[in-house]
Amino acid sequence: VHRIGVFTSGGDAPGMNAAIRSVVRTSLHMGIECVGIRRGYHGLINGDFVPLDFDSVSGLSRRGGTMLYSARSEDFKSKQGLERAEATCKLLGLDALVGIGGDGTFRGLLTLAQKGLSVIGIPGTIDNDIACSTYTIGFDTACNTALESIDKLRDTMLSHERCSVVEVMGRHAGHVALNVGVACGATVVLVPEKEVDYEEDVMEPIRRARLAGRTHFMIIVAEGVEGGAYGVAQKIHEATALDTRVTVLGHVQRGGAPTVRDRIAATYMGYEAVRLLAEGKDCRVVAMQGESYVDYDITEALAMQKGLDQQTYTVMRVLTGV
Ligand code: ATP
Repeated sequence: VHRIGVFTSGGDAPGMNAAIRSVVRTSLHMGIECVGIRRGYHGLINGDFVPLDFDSVSGLSRRGGTMLYSARSEDFKSKQGLERAEATCKLLGLDALVGIGGDGTFRGLLTLAQKGLSVIGIPGTIDNDIACSTYTIGFDTACNTALESIDKLRDTMLSHERCSVVEVMGRHAGHVALNVGVACGATVVLVPEKEVDYEEDVMEPIRRARLAGRTHFMIIVAEGVEGGAYGVAQKIHEATALDTRVTVLGHVQRGGAPTVRDRIAATYMGYEAVRLLAEGKDCRVVAMQGESYVDYDITEALAMQKGLDQQTYTVMRVLTGV
């Protein structure tokens, strides 16, 4: 491998910058050049790039977002789009690509691998919903950001007899909701993976908390739960007459300086990606299993399934008294 192209794609996540920095510096250490592709596959099609050296990634670890910008590109999925992406790689002399993103990003890498390019994927998404990896870059920061907001919300809500319904990110996966819910001591946590029995899962825990003397109730809802936070709040109000207040945390959860955990995971994964390429391996996804860094064939990785963490779910049910 002589020259690597690195890009971020799909939704951005805190720690992506630390991964870029790591890819660049590890490459240079191994005598490999690095080119940053801006705006994911959109930039690959349009030749939107920036050469990266040791100094150009200096101080990047602590910055949220991604210096290479991120994008989604429908054009890339077409035959012509793929040909244009291939042409950019030829023009710039890129023999390998490192893509940081989610499953969609890995699917894109697979199509480029079929054209003969060496590709490596790094899991970067705040949702922690990549099946082959127990951890994805950005998850810890997103959970901490949500938790900080919820703690503040609780301070103000404690003075009133109210029910806070907070919507956190997670259209298809409840990992953020579950972890944040356990960490903040929520009354109820709702995730898209489990069908909601309102009487048993929501109203009864609220009633029991009230009977135990609580006057404030914290309900954490993943955005993918049917009806979202507003729908859930409406149902609670109808059943209990409680004054419900909805807070949708939204994109603040994607921002901010990455936590130690995200900086370290991103740095190791960036290092691993280049190490694999330097050893002649390709078409792999760098992943974590427990505290270890491992790698999987992309096709194999995409075929894997990840459910909700049952252990955390059980702990949540016990602690919320369901
Ligand atoms: P997130 O977890 O934030 O959604 P993601 O990487 O899964 O991240 P997607 O929007 O699904 O985000 O994918 C990013 C880009 O990857 C798409 O805009 C598209 O250019 C490319 N891509 C996705 N699926 C495919 C596919 N089946 N074939 C080729 N390219 C794809």
